[in-house]
Amino acid sequence: MQVTRVMQAVGTGIADILFPPFCVGCDASGAWVCPSCHGSVFSLQQDVPPVPGIDRVAACVPYGHPLVQRVIKAIKYDRATCLGPTLAEWMRITRDHRTEPWPWAGASSLTIVPLPSDATRKQARGLDHTMWIAEWVQRTLLPWAPIVPALERVREVPPQARLGSDVLRHANVDGVFGLVRPLDGPVVLVDDVMTTGSTLQEAARIMRASGARPVYGFVIASGRTV
Ligand SMILES: [Zn+2]
Repeated sequence: MQVTRVMQAVGTGIADILFPPFCVGCDASGAWVCPSCHGSVFSLQQDVPPVPGIDRVAACVPYGHPLVQRVIKAIKYDRATCLGPTLAEWMRITRDHRTEPWPWAGASSLTIVPLPSDATRKQARGLDHTMWIAEWVQRTLLPWAPIVPALERVREVPPQARLGSDVLRHANVDGVFGLVRPLDGPVVLVDDVMTTGSTLQEAARIMRASGARPVYGFVIASGRTV
């Protein structure tokens, strides 16, 4: 798809001269996410429900918003690295408007652990999108915290989004991760989206067993699709 190639090419820094940006949400020219669409995301309030087995989870934007879904899918499936600054902006706005401190506030150390993408899909996409998101999290919010890919996928599973029930989603991720490197101390798991929390819970279980505590979560978007 030509649009996809343009969005990938912008990461190289040349295509934005040839192809001016257009809004992922409404096709308006001038920016990858226009001010109007950007504002509509933050007019929606959301709470992140408690996830058993994880100390606390922070999120930036609601996954139910169509623009958020388009941004996440463009990154995940179309390698739209031009949307990195949009994620950073969402993180900064969230930071500036949170009524509570970040879950990890006060921790003297913290390790960022990206949830590993499925190896086959990662290869097809050419972008390890959760590691890429973790790098944006580090750059924007946690410049003092190292990123350690402490987990790996040990089996491939159907995408969670295709499974209808919570029971199926929990069963789907059981044993999906293996430990590459044990960690102790506070850890924040980073993923693109949290829906039921099953994937984060399974990753937290492995990290806790290795000695990490507390285990927090950070996702760009949370909530079910509407
Ligand atoms: Zn727009």
